[in-house]
Amino acid sequence: MTLNSAYLHPRSRGTVRLSSADPSAAPLIDPNYWEDPHDRKMSIEGLKIAREIMQQAALEPFVMAERLPGPKAVTDEDLFIYGCANAKTDHHPVGTCKMGFDSMAVVGLDLKVHGLEGLRVCDSSVMPRVPSCNTNAPTIMVGEKGSDIIRNRAPLPPALFEHERNDARPRARTNIQ
Ligand SMILES: Cc1cc2nc3c(=O)[nH]c(=O)nc-3n(C[C@H](O)[C@H](O)[C@H](O)COP(=O)(O)OP(=O)(O)OC[C@H]3O[C@@H](n4cnc5c(N)ncnc54)[C@H](O)[C@@H]3O)c2cc1C
Repeated sequence: MTLNSAYLHPRSRGTVRLSSADPSAAPLIDPNYWEDPHDRKMSIEGLKIAREIMQQAALEPFVMAERLPGPKAVTDEDLFIYGCANAKTDHHPVGTCKMGFDSMAVVGLDLKVHGLEGLRVCDSSVMPRVPSCNTNAPTIMVGEKGSDIIRNRAPLPPALFEHERNDARPRARTNIQ
């Protein structure tokens, strides 16, 4: 069996740059993984937690031996070397046109690009930070929300937990158009 750990709130920041003045040229994408020491530390912690889970008594009947990283990887440095050789990305790059109002924000709450008329961005690039989930579903949500805004449709009712459904108190609704 395999147990992967993934650190979902990396502090390292990459870049997407133009490779030339040719608009059809592929961009230069540098994810800059693990540049921030915090990300390296958290990734090593993830490996340790995964190992701890796999060593629980309840799993003992199913685990013959640890294959990877393997019993020789003991210290943080061992685990870091293993991570450098074997880590992969979860393919969740987001936020190149983040939503917000600070100097780095590109779109507002209505998905309109600040300072430009007639242009909205409705995809994962508007996420202000990497979410703690797979990115496909929230990207579709942003797209659906964008089409609702453009079509001037009323916002959908909020999804509620069972106990919230039984709570009749009125609650605040956002209505961004
Ligand atoms: C290998 C891989 C595995 C993944 N696995 C999962 C998973 O299991 N679950 C999950 O939830 N998420 C997964 N993701 C992430 C998910 O696919 C993305 O978060 C999501 O597709 C982002 O949607 P998007 O519309 O923002 O960007 P994209 O899906 O990248 O869409 C961008 C679109 O813009 C088009 N485009 C680019 N440049 C131009 C241009 N100049 N003119 C016109 N069109 C242009 C591209 O062709 C593309 O169609 C995975 C991603 C990858 C790469």
